[in-house]
Amino acid sequence: MNRKPIFDPAAFGLDADAAAIIERARALYPTFSERAAAHDRDATFPTGNYRDMHEVGLLAICIPKEHGGLGGDYRTYMMAGAEIGRACGATALTWNMHVCSCLWTGALADDLDMSTEDRAAHEARRAIHYGRIVNDGAIFAQPFSEGGAAAAGAAAFGTRARKVDGGFVINGRKIFASLSGHADYYGVLCTLEQEGEDLRRRDTLYMAIPADADGVSVEGPWDPLGMRGTVSRNLVFRDVFVPDEAQLMPPGTYYQAANRWPHMFMTLTPAYMGLAQAAYDFTIAYLRGEVAGMPPVRRRMYPTKQIAVAEMTIRLEQTRALWAQALNDAGPDPSKEQVMRAWATQYTVMENANDLARLAIRTCGGQSMLKNLPLERIYRDSRCGSLMLPWTAELCLDRLGKAALYEAGETDE
Ligand SMILES: Cc1cc2nc3c(=O)[nH]c(=O)nc-3n(C[C@H](O)[C@H](O)[C@H](O)COP(=O)(O)OP(=O)(O)OC[C@H]3O[C@@H](n4cnc5c(N)ncnc54)[C@H](O)[C@@H]3O)c2cc1C
Repeated sequence: MNRKPIFDPAAFGLDADAAAIIERARALYPTFSERAAAHDRDATFPTGNYRDMHEVGLLAICIPKEHGGLGGDYRTYMMAGAEIGRACGATALTWNMHVCSCLWTGALADDLDMSTEDRAAHEARRAIHYGRIVNDGAIFAQPFSEGGAAAAGAAAFGTRARKVDGGFVINGRKIFASLSGHADYYGVLCTLEQEGEDLRRRDTLYMAIPADADGVSVEGPWDPLGMRGTVSRNLVFRDVFVPDEAQLMPPGTYYQAANRWPHMFMTLTPAYMGLAQAAYDFTIAYLRGEVAGMPPVRRRMYPTKQIAVAEMTIRLEQTRALWAQALNDAGPDPSKEQVMRAWATQYTVMENANDLARLAIRTCGGQSMLKNLPLERIYRDSRCGSLMLPWTAELCLDRLGKAALYEAGETDE
């Protein structure tokens, strides 16, 4: 099967450092792709993959070099994530939750405004956070969904933090918390209670809650259609005390990031970029009669198959090119056009990944969707991409349509 990099370093202008980091991720393909079937079948978390990623430094991919990490930037992480997703969608999706705890507190936070005191406190706290990952291989989850409008960015998070002496007391419930029961820390978004005020989005806090803290529990079953290895169960926080240094970003910084660094929400796409490539790789190998464990029957000589593969090639190239441009756009205070391109990209990657898997099954035929082959898993995993808040496929369409037709301040009243 094709093992060439999804993003050829020369063609996509990657420097040697970035290419070497992405190569570390690509090198994990044989192990991760072999383990993927069992984690999917049993809906189990890929703990072994996380041990392997820690060993090769990838848990610290976005931790600055001076803190012992690889110092990878946004684009490097995204492309490395696509290589992981090509082998195992669930590992790539959960790795995103973990990496965001470093990316948001690192490169993103450096681009945002903070008072001198907040900057100093942030430096000290993120050093603790990075140390846990670099030294202990700690794994971070990122539960923010609650089942209401908060994860879509339309309301304040209902999970609350009350300031007390020396720290905060957290109460609330998160749904779909990937890595639940397997992360060492939950990077929870919650709202700081202000006396006499309703909860406000600008008071969002981003907190590292130890998984073994008193009052933390994991609830509910996990038996979904796809991305089964993410183990995204529900999390409950009942009067959980965390010290002041549990703040992963100073008050107000997450709100600022969500408004000024919107490409932060595109970090859910690498898993699906990788799945799109995996569906394509499988199709080429299958039609050439080169899939391991299958009789070496070639099907590539039929014109209908060639046309289908041509359509898949075009869709994959469109997805890859748009994604690569959106990665270049990422940064603080993007233009309206860049934000619209980010929504168009999110929509394109999430929808095209599943469409490529659909075309792959149609083109390869009945035997290709048997459970002993990866394609039917890729098909189910890729179906989940469009559902990820805050930029679901529906919400991207909503926003794009409005933004294309209205300039700031315009109404039809
Ligand atoms: C495999 C998997 C892993 C996940 N992992 C995590 C995780 O680690 N952390 C985490 O926080 N979440 C995670 N999620 C949750 C995900 O981001 C969504 O929050 C979840 O899928 C929403 O489900 P829901 O049925 O409650 O959606 P609803 O809130 O009911 O929304 C359903 C649809 O309605 C639309 N919609 C929602 N709100 C609005 C609005 N205000 N205006 C207009 N349209 C709207 C959206 O298109 C949305 O898809 C995961 C989801 C999946 C499938």
